[in-house]
Amino acid sequence: MSDTVQILHPADDGYENIRNRCFNARVPNRRPAEIVLPWTTAEVAYAIKRANAQGLKVGVRSGGHHFPCSPLRDSGMLLDLKDLNKAFDYNKDTKIISFSPAHTVQDISTTLRPHKRFFPHGHSRTVGMGGFYLAGGQGCFVRGWGYTCDGWVTQLEVVTANGDIVIANATENQDLFWAAPGSGVGFFGVITRMWGKTIPSKKLYDVSYIVDSTDIFKPLLKWSLQTAERVPRYGSDLFICTFYADAEEKTTEDESKAKRVFMLLNQTVHCDSMEEALVLASPWQSFPDAFRKHLVAEIPMTERQWEELWDLQERFQPHGAGERWKVDSVISDATVSLDEFVDKITPALFDLPTRRATGAIIPLDYIPDEADHALSLPQKSTVSTLVCYSDPALDAKVDTWMKKTYTELEKVAVGIYVADHDKDQRLSRVMTDSALRKWLKIRAKYDPYELFTGHHGFDNVLPENQANGRT
Ligand SMILES: Cc1cc2nc3c(=O)[nH]c(=O)nc-3n(C[C@H](O)[C@H](O)[C@H](O)COP(=O)(O)OP(=O)(O)OC[C@H]3O[C@@H](n4cnc5c(N)ncnc54)[C@H](O)[C@@H]3O)c2cc1C
Repeated sequence: MSDTVQILHPADDGYENIRNRCFNARVPNRRPAEIVLPWTTAEVAYAIKRANAQGLKVGVRSGGHHFPCSPLRDSGMLLDLKDLNKAFDYNKDTKIISFSPAHTVQDISTTLRPHKRFFPHGHSRTVGMGGFYLAGGQGCFVRGWGYTCDGWVTQLEVVTANGDIVIANATENQDLFWAAPGSGVGFFGVITRMWGKTIPSKKLYDVSYIVDSTDIFKPLLKWSLQTAERVPRYGSDLFICTFYADAEEKTTEDESKAKRVFMLLNQTVHCDSMEEALVLASPWQSFPDAFRKHLVAEIPMTERQWEELWDLQERFQPHGAGERWKVDSVISDATVSLDEFVDKITPALFDLPTRRATGAIIPLDYIPDEADHALSLPQKSTVSTLVCYSDPALDAKVDTWMKKTYTELEKVAVGIYVADHDKDQRLSRVMTDSALRKWLKIRAKYDPYELFTGHHGFDNVLPENQANGRT
């Protein structure tokens, strides 16, 4: 097998290209000793045994969309799964799909379309299914049916830290199946194949309001969150996003000249007809006159194709022209009053540090069941800031802004979406304390010698470790 598996070393052609295969152009200067590009599960097992034999720590990459580019390990092994198990399978009898962790949102969506089936993938066409699922997966129409790990993914094929190939599902290696979603960068094996349920697809619609929120920010935000509460959960995604008026101007400037902050209120609907879509979005009809006069645009309910929704997403998350990103998020604490919540989150959404930075609130109202998976923090909503810029000289300034803003936001939070965990930036809870203690035991059973190190920092926030002075 050593003759057939593609392995790149730092001096090889192609090494640097693969090392840099990240959504974020701000790739850390960490240089794996080997990059392995497996095509089959057996090749992954070979790579893991090879890493063990050579004492290399392993980082795994599926879609390369983790903003801090976590799979890169200095002097370790990068297992890049871009070519792994590329055959997509849809079983017409069971309606089950099976796919590679490196398949993207677009791969899943376009393959299922002729079968008129739907699987709740993420919102951007290029995100990889491996990292998305391990984070739990805030998939399309999450408010109605929960995260994509929640009942949608039925089985995994995993290569463990000693190189064994195992199946994990609700009855076989159940502890591994429980531990995977919610692990994010901390997962302690390699997912090589996944199986998921599908449902009949429906039509897609969306409606948007863009408001110049500069002079009415807090009252508008409060009304938006109150209105979001009234939008039925099933079949509706909500996206509240802030950005500068000049965010899309064709310039290389990182600073906003406009200094006007716009707020997008967007609802996407998955249902059978325009009439149904209008009913589901009817709470927005009560748009107060005091806000209406600040409206910049109102895009009425329109039937959409997936490609149009992805295009919209890419306007806020551009890629491919050297964009640098810094991202942080909190999962909001539902016990905090709305007024205090609005006050505390305003800096993260309003004082955006670069012209192309965006703030986002995703109302979720999702209460996971800790018995089902490690993903366990109750999720009223997530609040995030996605700072996009070009000039590397801004790195330190952006980092400082992010750390200060999000350390303050932690006061109205129960933790962080594990997809955004970055131990070098800020530590926060990724699971409930009880789920984390259970997860750490399962981790130690499957990876006793820490071949995978992405979980570092998870347990620092446990009360017993804080009492010991770990921060
Ligand atoms: C533009 C954009 C849009 C996004 N939209 C959404 C969204 O709609 N919903 C949502 O929930 N999240 C979203 N995210 C966050 C995204 O889900 C996470 O960043 C996720 O980690 C990306 O997965 P990936 O496989 O592409 O990333 P990668 O960088 O390849 O992987 C991230 C980490 O996951 C682990 N990992 C990945 N694959 C495997 C594997 N096969 N086996 C073991 N470990 C593995 C590794 O530890 C790796 O460091 C978005 C991110 C971006 C950049």
